[in-house]
Amino acid sequence: MSDHDNTPKSNEPPVSEPSITESLDRYRHSLEWESKFYMDTAALVETTCDRIGVDPNIKNRLLTPQRALIVSIPVRMDDGRVNNYIGYRVQHNNSLGPFKGGIRYHEEVNLGEVSALAMLMTFKTAVAGIPLGGAKGGIRIDPRPLSRAEKQRVTRRYTVEILNMIGPEQDIPAPDMGTDAQTMAWLMDTFSEMKGHAVPSVVTGKPILIGGSKGRTEATGYGVAYTTAAAAEHLGFDLQGKTVAIQGFGNVGTYAARKLSSMGMKVVAVSDVSGGIYNPDGLDINHVLKYVATRTYVKDYPRAEPINNTDLLTLDVDVLIPAALGGQIDADIARKLKCRILAEGANGPVTAEGNEVLKARQEEIFVVPDILANAGGVIVSYFEWVQGLQSFFWSAEEISERLFNIMEAAFRECINFKNKFQTDMRTATLMLGIHRVSEAMLTRGLFP
Ligand code: GLU
Repeated sequence: MSDHDNTPKSNEPPVSEPSITESLDRYRHSLEWESKFYMDTAALVETTCDRIGVDPNIKNRLLTPQRALIVSIPVRMDDGRVNNYIGYRVQHNNSLGPFKGGIRYHEEVNLGEVSALAMLMTFKTAVAGIPLGGAKGGIRIDPRPLSRAEKQRVTRRYTVEILNMIGPEQDIPAPDMGTDAQTMAWLMDTFSEMKGHAVPSVVTGKPILIGGSKGRTEATGYGVAYTTAAAAEHLGFDLQGKTVAIQGFGNVGTYAARKLSSMGMKVVAVSDVSGGIYNPDGLDINHVLKYVATRTYVKDYPRAEPINNTDLLTLDVDVLIPAALGGQIDADIARKLKCRILAEGANGPVTAEGNEVLKARQEEIFVVPDILANAGGVIVSYFEWVQGLQSFFWSAEEISERLFNIMEAAFRECINFKNKFQTDMRTATLMLGIHRVSEAMLTRGLFP
């Protein structure tokens, strides 16, 4: 049977007709480059470049990715149909080292979003001071209804479509929203099969058994907790007994919750796609995690009240951690926020309009921006890449100590920029990233 032959054969399960409208809907989803997220991110980079006097030739180069690939991913589903998904890999800048960034599976993924996220990766690695560039990939697909076999076929075909762009010295993918260590294992296996030998360092965030690093799964959430603690110390208060609300209870949210509650904080609210739960006396995070392990979502958790998204974000808490989708905090929500620290676990959780409000409220709300707060993931990815290239692996203690030191140093550098330029934290952090990347570009010069 050919890949596109949908005629039912005897002894084979009936195959449903492919729906033209269904396929076209996936293309109609967005006007690619005309994404608000991309335009807003590029505008922020542009104004920040102007404030620190970046050479205009360098600035213009930073506003678009170096390379972007759009691919079709035909996949045979378990029912025999062939679905065609759209995937992307965008490489924004590699002046400081090989391109680096996650791969996202989500039904809203589009070229503009992936490009904005790739741009943020460039400055995230630069702020962390690690020798890597910025990239991002994604497939416009909802991974939740897929079977394990379907997910594996999607991943393998996508890997082959972007094969020439990636490699340990070229571009190193990692997990992001909707993907995990298993996804990276399939990607690494496909790449290795195509090359004829094992290439573990083509991805990070792999299972430890096949060359992953200790501490990588926890790294992003723990990093959010470390920068939250650094912010509290900067503001002169102790996190012990203070309250935190977390939007999103995936990889980032759960590990941030664990770390912050182990630091003595009261996690009063968490949420996921099913809704939110709230207990003003504090949630027992281990108990919530046990509940989620069997019930998948936090919905109907017995030892708390339900809470909606807006109410969770605007709770009167010491720390608020958006760790879900981007664009959650618009101007309206930003005006209503009551937290003292906003630590951004998600990428791009605040809209451009929300950011303007937060800038005006910077004395009340201290922002730890995404490219600083959630950099823990890519920092331990860097450790994984280094360990893989040397085939020599570090202990969990070494990893967490090095992660902590890098995040603390990055936080301090951002505060220096904030003081020097008398500006808000997001601008200061981006200034640091842009400064490092633009200096590297000037030093390397323009080819040819
Ligand atoms: N996807 C994560 C991020 O947005 C991790 C990227 C990586 O480890 O390369 O930072």
